[in-house]
Amino acid sequence: MAKIVLTADTTLMSRYRNIPLGDFLGCVPANFVPRRIFDFICPLEPPLTSNGIARTAPYGLRKIEAALLMNDYSRKDVVIAHPNYIHNFIKDDTEIVGHYTMDPYGLGPVSMMFTIGRRYKSYDEIEFRKFMTKLNIIKRRKGLKFKIVAGGPGAWQLEYMIDESRRLGINHIVIGEADHVIHEIFEDVRHNDAPEVMKITTYPSVEQIPTIVGASIKGLVEVMRGCGRGCKFCLPNMRIARYIPVEKIVKEIKVNIVYGEREAWLHSDDIFLYKLEDKRNFIPNKEAVLDLFRTIMSVRGLKGCHPTHSSIAPVVADPEMVKELSHILKAGPRRWIGIQPGLETGSGELIKKHMPNKVRPFSPDEWQDVAVKATIVFNKYYWFPAYTLIIGLPGETEDDCWDTVRLLDRLEKEVPRVVGKSKTHFITAPLSFVPLAALKKEKTLDIGEEMNEARFCVIYRAWRIIVREIYRSLHWLVDQPLHIKLMIDAIVMIGGKLILSRIEKYGKKRGYRIEKCLYCK
Ligand code: SF4
Repeated sequence: MAKIVLTADTTLMSRYRNIPLGDFLGCVPANFVPRRIFDFICPLEPPLTSNGIARTAPYGLRKIEAALLMNDYSRKDVVIAHPNYIHNFIKDDTEIVGHYTMDPYGLGPVSMMFTIGRRYKSYDEIEFRKFMTKLNIIKRRKGLKFKIVAGGPGAWQLEYMIDESRRLGINHIVIGEADHVIHEIFEDVRHNDAPEVMKITTYPSVEQIPTIVGASIKGLVEVMRGCGRGCKFCLPNMRIARYIPVEKIVKEIKVNIVYGEREAWLHSDDIFLYKLEDKRNFIPNKEAVLDLFRTIMSVRGLKGCHPTHSSIAPVVADPEMVKELSHILKAGPRRWIGIQPGLETGSGELIKKHMPNKVRPFSPDEWQDVAVKATIVFNKYYWFPAYTLIIGLPGETEDDCWDTVRLLDRLEKEVPRVVGKSKTHFITAPLSFVPLAALKKEKTLDIGEEMNEARFCVIYRAWRIIVREIYRSLHWLVDQPLHIKLMIDAIVMIGGKLILSRIEKYGKKRGYRIEKCLYCK
């Protein structure tokens, strides 16, 4: 059996029935979403083989697998095991179980909002703890000595709560990009020569980033790493920007197609920065962006591709680029392109203080206008933005929050005026500020303790937009067999209404003006 057994959180092993943004459902608290409903919406992907080799796995874990195979390890040494079948792979000769995690203690911004600052437990956390317990039981029962090495985007949480991580039997924590060093790290671990926490401060070059050899969940492939806009709260921004050559991206898409993943999700922190040349004003390299999508859409066997994240300023700086992209991606009334841009705040002051480059080539004072215009361009060309808002950025005042409320008002009024009510589609997801990156010394927002009327109105208004959009769009956004689709529609619609009425009740109890916040109609 394999010396190195790799696996991941169960919440990362589902495609969430392709519900748009369904991947965040692991962040919901178990107190409010019954287990049966969660399991229905989050069925795990089936394994490739009857003993449990994973067919698809989180992209980052596929990179670790590929990096090991590229450096010293052979196929018989390394396996990605489906978490439900892990016991089939851990044997006497297993030296390392490498666990990939995203949100192990529910400290991520989405979980922190849903669980009101961890007053409740998210499914992410519950499933992570359950899996660690399972590993420890296997270890104890079989008298094995393998080491548990945990990494992935949520590894910072394991260090943040290190005593808990020790209690759960985690021997080593790897933080940072590890493609170029993971083989050395695992060698050190195997020879008892590795520290408990390993923070990687170097970065793999594009050449050192390996090509995946097995399928990634939902056909995700990376087109760039890092961003370069320098927002102070942002973890991806800690990485220097690197652009993956188109040939390499196509190679990975073909690997995914072999395993049946015929849609590609193109991951980046900002797709419009692909092969950026103008690093002063951040005017997109339009030809490079268009060429990327043209090449990918011509891959045989691929049905379609979708970008993951973007910023909004390039959309206003070059609306023609969005129009041409829509043409390449065959966007239209029956095929909208989802995108996740960061709106973060409506306050020009906070933009100036924490993320001045996010709005370039425009100025922070123009942020609200940029947001409205970008939404108009997105919707005009059939792009559906799922915006994020951050509550509790350091130095945030009530006036800043009212600015955000005002921005939400403007979006709700001005966008339909230009593109028409039926073509207006966007959501705004409120997240809790979590101190990371350049703001890591700041205090975590305790949303339960630090609520005020202005913050409440941002959260309430943002959720009202989400629920309204669920009612208007979910039926055509979910692509599932009719009986499953009807059940999903019912669950999500009822769930959305319940969340909104809970928020309303909470606001009323605290005496907040729900419909009469300063800038509401
Ligand atoms: S634009 Fe987005 S990805 Fe880039 S630094 Fe800012 S928050 Fe991070």
